[in-house]
Amino acid sequence: MSREVCSKCTRPPCVCFCDLIPSVKMTPSFQIHCIQHPNEAKRKALSSVPLLNHSLNNFTLEITKETMLPSVDTECHQVLLFPGPNAVDLQDLKCIQKLKVVVVDGTWKEAKKLVQENSVLQALPRVIITCNNSSLYGTLRREPKSGCVSTLEAVAQAITVLDGNDTIQQTLLGMFEKIVARQNEYVQAGKETNLAYYNGVAKPEQERNKVEAIVPEENDNTVQEYILYSVETQLNGKVQWIQHQDAFISTYSQAMRRCVEANVNRKRGERFGVVLKATFLKKSSQL
Ligand SMILES: [Zn+2]
Repeated sequence: MSREVCSKCTRPPCVCFCDLIPSVKMTPSFQIHCIQHPNEAKRKALSSVPLLNHSLNNFTLEITKETMLPSVDTECHQVLLFPGPNAVDLQDLKCIQKLKVVVVDGTWKEAKKLVQENSVLQALPRVIITCNNSSLYGTLRREPKSGCVSTLEAVAQAITVLDGNDTIQQTLLGMFEKIVARQNEYVQAGKETNLAYYNGVAKPEQERNKVEAIVPEENDNTVQEYILYSVETQLNGKVQWIQHQDAFISTYSQAMRRCVEANVNRKRGERFGVVLKATFLKKSSQL
């Protein structure tokens, strides 16, 4: 049986956001083209892009892994809003007439893949926005890096930078905040149901405790030095490896178990990985 959904935003009635969408679309002074990874299109609940699509003129959406974007657009100057070594500040493009800002939407990994696997995107000049707002998503969907914002927030900020006023940004953020709050309420209600159902132990936690090491313990006698770590990518594209707790000497299985234990109460995007100390040192010195 299919769930009842709103015909406009295609979301369940309890989290429909149509009442928040402005009756007249807002018009930024430049084109925005969003390439959304097909996986992201399936994650309707947390995607900020439908809201942009319903609220903005000059906004086009392409859901694909292979963009149809022309490599050269004779009508306008195309740039890609994505970090890279040669990325310039969007601020510097303020005086360019007929600009098209291309954005990619998905998890950080999916967005990176979209850029890597589309030669058209690879060839576009890159721009970044320097901002220090942290994401409104909060714990609902932890962004993979500090200083990294949702597509909606990035687009909203780009409009402020290029249009020279923040009217559209404020409206978009106001709507987004309400949607996130609504979604949070919905998730919280779901969590409580889940807790009640599993006698006070939420199912994901139970499953995570059962994760077993990949290497059979009887074949795993080598002890080496391991480190629990996380990785952060900054808006300028720089990757930082961060060590958590002291390095420890153990077998591979023990290291895996320690990592699983350390992640028990951590949300996706906040979890640690485990790696040989030698690898960690190599990785963190390369940067
Ligand atoms: Zn709706």
